[in-house]
Parts: sequence; structure tokens; C-alpha cells
Amino acid sequence: MYRTTTCNSLRKEQTGQTVTLAGWVNSRRDHGGVIFIDLRDREGMTQVVFRPEEHPQVSEASHGLRAEDVIQVTGIVAARLAGTENSKLETGSIEVIASALTVLNKADVPPFPLDDTSVNEDLRLQYRYLDLRTLHMQRNLKLRHRVAKATRDFLDEAGFLEIETPVLSNPTPEGARDFLVPSRLNPGTFYALPQAPQQYKQLLQVAGMEKYFQIARCFRDEDLRADRQPEFTQIDVEASFITDEEIQTLIEGLLARIFKESRGVDIPVPFPRMPYSEAMSRYGSDKPDTRFGLELVDLGDVFKESQFKVFRSVVDGGGVIKAINAKGAAAKMSKEQLKKWEEWVKTEFGAKGLAYVKWSEGGEWESPIVKFFSDAERAALKERMGFAEGDVLFFGADLKLEPVCEVLGRVRLRCAELLGLIDAAGDQLNFLWVVDFPLLAFSAEDNHWVAVHHPFTRPKAEDVALLEAGEYGKVRAVAYDVVLNGVELGGGSIRIHERDLQAKMFEVLGVSPEDQQLKFSHLLRAFSFGAPPHGGIALGLDRLVMLIAKASSIREVIAFPKNNRGVDLMTQSPVEVDFKQLRELYISSTAKKG
Ligand code: ASP
Repeated sequence: MYRTTTCNSLRKEQTGQTVTLAGWVNSRRDHGGVIFIDLRDREGMTQVVFRPEEHPQVSEASHGLRAEDVIQVTGIVAARLAGTENSKLETGSIEVIASALTVLNKADVPPFPLDDTSVNEDLRLQYRYLDLRTLHMQRNLKLRHRVAKATRDFLDEAGFLEIETPVLSNPTPEGARDFLVPSRLNPGTFYALPQAPQQYKQLLQVAGMEKYFQIARCFRDEDLRADRQPEFTQIDVEASFITDEEIQTLIEGLLARIFKESRGVDIPVPFPRMPYSEAMSRYGSDKPDTRFGLELVDLGDVFKESQFKVFRSVVDGGGVIKAINAKGAAAKMSKEQLKKWEEWVKTEFGAKGLAYVKWSEGGEWESPIVKFFSDAERAALKERMGFAEGDVLFFGADLKLEPVCEVLGRVRLRCAELLGLIDAAGDQLNFLWVVDFPLLAFSAEDNHWVAVHHPFTRPKAEDVALLEAGEYGKVRAVAYDVVLNGVELGGGSIRIHERDLQAKMFEVLGVSPEDQQLKFSHLLRAFSFGAPPHGGIALGLDRLVMLIAKASSIREVIAFPKNNRGVDLMTQSPVEVDFKQLRELYISSTAKKG
């Protein structure tokens, strides 16, 4: 037996007991020939003392110990002297007086001090197995386990079956690029790694499984942003004979259980519901952060007779003018800063500019456009926007709603940051369902309609006529996203279960009958054999754990993540492979070396 207990279990009550511990040398201190060691294992830390007068040989050996050596120690538990107790350690009232020491394995000097929080992330990822020894990474992975366990327990109790679906699978359109795997046994053909188990989970409903879940690995070959990984994990759920409201209630219960068990907090259910159109018009976002106001206000009617040509032409063209009032921001926003924000909206969103009015305490209205405003317009801004000394107004004007929302939605978030509104919200958890998403959006880039969620999402019953009539932009979907503090935790929908409606949807999306046969015949055929009404949802597990752990990135809650070039710095994958291996797969690379 390597140990009789762990490094986080001994308290004053065990004084006098002989114990054996095993773990890593966290630190070593030499106090005039007496060696003190903090011995660490996954559970915590225990102080071990090597006293030369009691055990000279063992004490002698302890002088050679270095950080991260793996050792086994036997000794007697003793209460620490009054005044030497360490209230930061759970075992801080005792120490173990070592009578035997075995070095199980020596360690080289680690490439970085494990308790240094300023270490460069690439180095941490290269030596991830050392980085994972740190208390905060151990805490994060334990938390992740708790979340997964709470998920399994909750869904099991609700009658859901955990069913695995293939990783070598068929392409499923979720809006990203597929990772492909060549099939050696079928020359010239490829599997796709699943972007989500979407079609399989629907086929499991056709198969009569009724309630499915899976903590599923998904793969999307995208350019990586801060909180994206090429492989990530979803809590994937699908059920038959279920309404959108029932799915939302189920997920509220699941999230309540997860937050209770992993963070000890009770979250209030049900969550508020907000239609997509309202989220966009009030917050400029389909995932609004409702911890603060700063709402977008409509000003179209105020400027309908404006002398300011830009606003006037937008109103005349049937467009949208909105503004937000950053209360108290004037003192924090210099002219240079306003210029920088303007540059930012130009480069980031292709906006033409960022109109503003700044009203410093005791000052005039400062703005390049205010000279065009009439007295009535000025009065309306004060009244409608609550505009007062110390405030800054930001405007968005465009013939279309989306660009206005996009710009002002992001300006709103930056204002909230600048004004400290996010910090002021403290531990507040604002959950929200955004519902009634549009079914389709027109992609100018591809010059055809694309599914906002995915092609299997059901149109609202009352909007099917609009679909038939070709009014695609007006059709709403039975689709819902769950949002926490401005972060999308997940989304889902009620699905199409009728063959003809699914075929119609493919047709609207520009999938030719030949392509439908080639790519989706299995699904269409399955729907003709008695597919039950069904729907589901998927929650991003990595993001959820990140928020619960209050971590800064999803890499902090994934054991072995890739960096932002998709590289695993520890194993150095992806790697080049032998010509021979490629030949077996009927593949040859066109990549240029260099
Ligand atoms: N498959 C969808 C996704 O990954 C979720 C769902 O509709 O259930 O976003």
C-alpha cells in the first residue's frame, strides 16, 4: 500500500496516529537543519517535518529532496505549536513527524514554478501535465467532473438514455467546415467528424428511443477565436413528443442542478423569455447581457424632418435610427478615445462612422453633428434618452436594422465595461431564453437563403404559409437559445419530422434534388417510416464550466486544449506523416513546404 490517507485528511483529532502519505514535494524549507516539506496530492497539502534529533538518517535523506520529487512518507501526526498553525491550509493545525522516507521518483527542475500565475500560456500548454498539477487547474477539472456528473444524474432521473453516436460519420451542416478522415477501405471516400450529432440524435427518435442525451465531442474546422476550440464538448439532448416549452423547463432544471452542485447557488427558474426581435431592438444582440440597462432607443420619429442629411435619408428610405445613452461616460471619454471607437466600428463592422454627442458637466454639447439638430430634436433627445450633463449618446443609423443593432450592441457592451457596470453586477446570474428566431437569413455572400439554426429546424405553425408564399425573411422558427450574462450557453429547436416539409426546406436552402438524395436520403427516407414529433437542444459544456469556474478562457477548463493555431503544443500535433501512410489512404499532399 502506498498510503493510508490523503494529504487533505488529517486534523487535530488524528494526533498520535501513525500514517503514510504519498505525493509531490510542493516546497521545501530548511530551518536550521530541520527540513519542512509541504507534501501535495490531488486532495491538498500536509506539512511534513524531518527532525535530525529523532530520526537522523531519514532527516539526512530529506536534505536531497527537491520540488516535484515524488515521495512516500511515514510518520506520527502531531499538533502544531500554538502560533505556527496555518489557517490557509485545511490541515494547518497538524504536521507529520517523519520516521521513514522513500523517494518514489526524482524530478528535474520544472521549466516554470508551478505557483507562478504569470507564466506564458504556450509554456503551460507545452508542459500541460505540470500545469495541471496546480491547484486552480485541479479545481477546474474537478468542477468539470461535477458538472458532467450532475448532468448525467439529472437526465437519468428524467428518463433520458445516454447513447453514443459515431465519431466517424456523415457530414452534417451546422455552419462550419468539416474535419475529414480518409477511408482506406473505401478508396477516395471520406468520413466527416461530427460538427454535432444532430442527424444521429434525430434518427434515434425515429428509432423510438424517445429521450436521448450524450456528452458529445464535436468537431468544427473554424478559425479559432478566444473561446473556440476545434474539438469541444456539448451536452446534447433530444426527445420525442415534447414541446419547446417542455424542453426549456427541462434545461432550466438541469442548469439549476448543475449550479447547485458545482457552485452551491440556487438559480431562480423559470428564466425570462424574450423574442429575438425584442432582444435585437432593445439590446442589439441575440444574446443580450441583461445585467445592465443601456438599452437601444428608437429615434426614427425624432429625426423625420431633420436637417441632418444622413439621418434624414435613412428615415426617408424606411431605415432605422437608434441610440444609447452612456450615463456618466463623458468624464471617461476624451476626443481621442471617441475617435478610436469610431475607427474600431469602421474596421470591425464596416460602419461609415460612429455618431455621438458628448455633454460634459457644466459644458456644451460636443459633436460634429449637433449643429444640424433643431431645438425640438435637442429637446426630444433629452426627454427620450434621459440625456443630461455628464452623458454620451451614441447613434446608429442604417437602412437595415441588423447593422444598427450590430454596432450599437457592441458599443453598449464597451460602454458597460467602461462604466464598470459588469463589475458592479458582481455574482449576478442573468439567465434568459431568446425565442422565435428567424428560420432563414439571406446570405449576400452565397446569394441564397441559409438556415439561421440548421436545416432541420421547424418553422412556426402560423408561419408555414409564409414559407409556402416565399416570404422567407418573415418566417419564424421554433428555435430557442439559452443565454447567461450575455453568453450563449446553448441552443436548440423543435425539428421538422415530415418528409415533405424537410424536402421543401432543403429546396428553399438551394439543395438540389440530386444533392438531397446524395446527402440526406437516409434522413428523408427515415422520416417516411413514422417519425415522431421531436426536438432538442445542445449546451456548450466547455463554456458552461468556464463561466462556473469564473475562468478567462475555455482552455482553462479543458485538460489538453489546442492553441489558437489548432496545435497541441504538448504532443506537437498535427504532424506530417509518411508518404507511405498517405499512399495507403490514396492521398497526396499539395501543401508547399516552407
Ligand atoms: N445541433 C445543434 C448545435 O450543435 C443543437 C441542436 O439543435 O440540438 O448547435
